Amino acid sequence: MTLLELDAVSVHYGRIQAVSELSLTVEEGEIVALIGANGAGKSTTMRAISGIRPLSAGRIAFAGEDITKLRADLRVVRGISQVPEGRGVFPGMTVAENLDMGAYARKDRKNLGPDLDRVFDLFPRLAERRTQAGGTLSGGEQQMLAMGRALMAKPRLLLLDEPSMGLAPQFIQQIFRIVTEINNQGTTVLLVEQNAQQALSRAHRAYVLETGRITKSGTGRELLADDAIKEAYLGVA
Ligand code: ATP
Repeated sequence: MTLLELDAVSVHYGRIQAVSELSLTVEEGEIVALIGANGAGKSTTMRAISGIRPLSAGRIAFAGEDITKLRADLRVVRGISQVPEGRGVFPGMTVAENLDMGAYARKDRKNLGPDLDRVFDLFPRLAERRTQAGGTLSGGEQQMLAMGRALMAKPRLLLLDEPSMGLAPQFIQQIFRIVTEINNQGTTVLLVEQNAQQALSRAHRAYVLETGRITKSGTGRELLADDAIKEAYLGVA
């Protein structure tokens, strides 16, 4: 079943067109990656999906329903949860309070225990630090907290914007392993990454974005083997 469908989506910032007639699909159960250079329009595409940025043209459907004009908070209720670039952890709140905020849109807030347990199973480090202020966590720990907070919304679709940014290599491995685990537990993932190697090896399918347009798509494996991709994004000549 197609969970997310973007049909000829365009997004402008004033007169600058950041995304041009972009079409993509994400099937339920997949990990799909969006790769591309700085400024290609990856974050803008994510903002359009989460509803933070309006479209100037095109259409977005989620689980078969048109959500093009739906407010961002109502998209969270439908099951779309975003971990933004830069993470957006609430610095003055504890780890536990940050996680609680992730569940704000849920109607079944009385029964968060099992979801909190799941987050602490995925990220044992957060369990150890549940009373620590979010702002005093390391970069990698803040990334974990942002992902944990998004999971507290029980999303059907998790949007991850550059989860590996600024992290040490051992944290990068760990974050991507957890992305695969989250997916194995039944959550569909759309991932934006500059770390194309990791993204393509974890993703079922991927799209390549260049100056606001999709120029290539395929399975992660196909794109990893593609000479032009190797040269442009994988640092192999
Ligand atoms: P990066 O990997 O560097 O984060 P990206 O692929 O996520 O890049 P976007 O952040 O989506 O790219 O930016 C796409 C284009 O839109 C860029 O040219 C950028 O300068 C422009 N842009 C992004 N945000 C704004 C804004 N708030 N106002 C004006 N232009 C913007």
